[in-house]
Amino acid sequence: MTRPLVASIDIAAMQHNLSVVRSTVPRAKIWAVVKANAYGHGLERSVRAFTDADGFALIEIESAIHLREIGWKKPILLLEGFFYPHELPILARYSIAFAVHCDEQIDMLEKARLEMPVDVHLKMNTGMNRLGFLPSEYGKALERLKKIPYVRDISYMTHFANSEAEDHPALSVAEQLRRFDSATQGLKGDRNLSNSGAILLHPGIRTDWVRPGIMLYGGTPGGKTAEQYGLKPAMTLKSEIIQTQHIGEGEAIGYGSIFTAKNPMTIGVVACGYADGYPRMAPEGTPVIVNGIKTRLVGRVSMDMITVDLTPVPDAHVGSEVTLWGKGLPIDEVAEAAGTVGYELMCALSLRPRIVECW
Ligand SMILES: *Cc1c(COP(=O)(O)O)cnc(C)c1O
Repeated sequence: MTRPLVASIDIAAMQHNLSVVRSTVPRAKIWAVVKANAYGHGLERSVRAFTDADGFALIEIESAIHLREIGWKKPILLLEGFFYPHELPILARYSIAFAVHCDEQIDMLEKARLEMPVDVHLKMNTGMNRLGFLPSEYGKALERLKKIPYVRDISYMTHFANSEAEDHPALSVAEQLRRFDSATQGLKGDRNLSNSGAILLHPGIRTDWVRPGIMLYGGTPGGKTAEQYGLKPAMTLKSEIIQTQHIGEGEAIGYGSIFTAKNPMTIGVVACGYADGYPRMAPEGTPVIVNGIKTRLVGRVSMDMITVDLTPVPDAHVGSEVTLWGKGLPIDEVAEAAGTVGYELMCALSLRPRIVECW
C-alpha cells in the first residue's frame, strides 16, 4: 500500500517541447536548462528526454559533474558561474563552461593557474541589474579574460528581464538587445541570449544559443497559455479522495476555520499538502479536478491534505481521482490562483510524492 499521491513525468511531452524550441528557433543551438533538478522533473530523466539538446545549462556544480559521470559529452554551462577558487580546477577537468559576471570571479580565475582550458560566458548586465558587467565595464572585463592563457572560448551572454512581454515600459527586450549589441559589436564568439519568453515571443533575436527552461517542461513564461504555444505538460500531479465529509450550514473546515459552508455540502479530503509541494497560500477557489470535473479548493491547505468542494461531483467517493495540476489542469492556472508561477510549483515538488514516468 502506498499513499496515492503520484507525480507522473511525461518524457514524450518533454521531447515534444524540445522540438517546439527547435522549430521556433531552428538556427540556434539549445542549452536545455536543467537547474533545480530539472525544474523538479529529475536530472537523469531529463537527460533521457533532452538527448537532442546541444548542451545542458544549470546552476549546481554537483549536478554538472553528475552529468559528465553518466556520460553526457556535449557542452555543460553553469549559469551562475562559480563561487570559490577551489571549483575552478574541477570545472576545467570536467570541461564545464561557466558564466563570469563580476571582477571578483576574474580575480580568482587569474590566480587559478589552471592546467586545462576553460570556456567562459561573459555576462552583461543590460538592465536587469542582477548579474553581469555593465556595458561600460564589459570591454575591460573581456580584455582581462583574454589575457588569461587557460581561458579558451569566450561567449557573450545576457538575460532578459521581461521577455514574456511583447514590450515593457520599464525595460523592453528591444532595449536590452540594443545595449547588448552595441557593446558586443564586432566581437568574435558565440552569443547566448534567449530564455523561454524570448524564444516564444521574440524568436527573431539573433543568437547562437538559446536557454529554454520552463517551456521544456510544458509551462508558459507568460504571454499566452502553454497550450497556445503548442507545449505539453510534463508533470502531472494526481492523488485521490481519502475521505468525504457531509457538513451542515455554518460548519467550518480545517485549520483556522477559514471556510464556512453557506449550505449543507460535501467536502473531499485529498492526500496532498504543502509538505508535498502544494502551495500553502493557495486560496479558496484554486482549481482542482475530481473525476474529470473541475472544482475548487476550500479551507486552508495543510501539511498533508487539502479539502475540496464536491458539489459539482456528487458521485465522488473515497478513491476518486484528483488532479492537482498537469494534464487536464494547466500548472499555470493553479499557480496563478495561488499568486505564484508554474516555475515555483514545479521546483517545489517535494521528495514525498511518488514519481512515475510515462511516455
Ligand atoms: C533559469 C534560467 C533560464 C531559463 O529560463 P526560463 O524562463 O525557464 O526559460 C535561462 N537563463 C538563465 C540565466 C537562467 O537562470
